[in-house]
Amino acid sequence: MEVHNLYKMKALNIVFFFTCLSIFSFGQHTKEQCSKEAIFQRHLEIDENALEELAETESQLQKIIQNFRDNPEQKQNSNIVIPVVMHVFHDGDDGKMDMDQIQSGLKILNEDFNGLNDGWNTIDPAFDNIKGTMDINFCLASIDPEGNPTTGVVYHQDPQGLLNEGNLFRHAWDNYKYLNIYFPKYTGGEPSDFTAYAYFPSTAGSDLNQGGVFYSSIRWGYGNHSILEEGDDWASVCTHELGHWLNLYHTFQGGCSAANDFVGDTPPTTGGTIELSDCNNNDFSCGVHTNGENYMDYNHRCKKMFTLGQVERMTAALFLPSRITLWSEENLLATGCIDFYTSNDKMNSSLPVKVYPNPASDQLFVDLPFEASWDFELFNLKGELMFKEKISSKKYTFDLHDYHNGLYYYIIRNEEYNSSGKLSVLHN
Ligand SMILES: [Zn+2]
Repeated sequence: MEVHNLYKMKALNIVFFFTCLSIFSFGQHTKEQCSKEAIFQRHLEIDENALEELAETESQLQKIIQNFRDNPEQKQNSNIVIPVVMHVFHDGDDGKMDMDQIQSGLKILNEDFNGLNDGWNTIDPAFDNIKGTMDINFCLASIDPEGNPTTGVVYHQDPQGLLNEGNLFRHAWDNYKYLNIYFPKYTGGEPSDFTAYAYFPSTAGSDLNQGGVFYSSIRWGYGNHSILEEGDDWASVCTHELGHWLNLYHTFQGGCSAANDFVGDTPPTTGGTIELSDCNNNDFSCGVHTNGENYMDYNHRCKKMFTLGQVERMTAALFLPSRITLWSEENLLATGCIDFYTSNDKMNSSLPVKVYPNPASDQLFVDLPFEASWDFELFNLKGELMFKEKISSKKYTFDLHDYHNGLYYYIIRNEEYNSSGKLSVLHN
């Protein structure tokens, strides 16, 4: 009980979960908590059990972590894909970042999580043994909740779509199917001190479609609307926020206390309170070497790594009820991230399967490279399973008469291999 109460006290300080930062200016920097209290208050109004749920989620998470340690084979930690929708609020051109800038921010996010960032090779060697990466990609959805094509970016002409003003959540797409990232409108860079905040995994939040990330479009990636110079690590604050979204706390949470961030291998640090200067804050603020290059520190001009312990915690978070549906195969089909999924050669084996003709009208032919117990599955654009059958021979013919004209996805797989793709049905 002591531990529980202690946890709850701690939770009070960290719940709903922000990085709310001012940008450096004139060589000086300040940090402001800006609207943390307002947002937290709003969340408690929505969900008075928020603190209890947070404790419950932590307990679930610890069980998942323990289970993975006991049964490593149950841990899927490769080729995770998360469908994303971005809501960009603007007034004419004001606040309207373009697709190039959006893609640039997404690229940074994906490179960082996968250890493909420029800074990866210059991490302080003291942390070589604990630096970790995830095999995860954030994919702009190409199918919307109604099953229609989308760019994954929704532009909202809305001069009132400001941070903490107006209910931006009313635009949310199903939180169990999409990670929602909101970019409130900025007029002439105001309010200039906000970078981002994120919501931790929460079933109550997902039930209400009130989770996701809020982000400043002037600090997302590089490009037309960004104030960041190309290469500025400040753009990796997105990685920090997605760390929160996957249940990571700041490395300096709880200061020098041993249990500070619920991760075993991150060295304790006073992080956010020490003087930060590019990559030179690897000091000894808690008597041990500080991992100032960690994404979850507040050293936003020097962001390079997660630790293995943080990766374990984020991987476990993917199995929480509010996250596990996002990266399911059905959902990747439903959100149009299947292309991304199939383009990854780890997921899509180089199996010489022939599926033809495409487009097809009456019959579809499947040639398999060898006899085995194959599953043939056909999905519609919403990701609903339309048909499933076992194939045990090398040749298979599928009758398409009952299928309307349109686009479908197929998956052919056995225990070792799979192959998938789009199928166009076009009756004469
Ligand atoms: Zn943060």
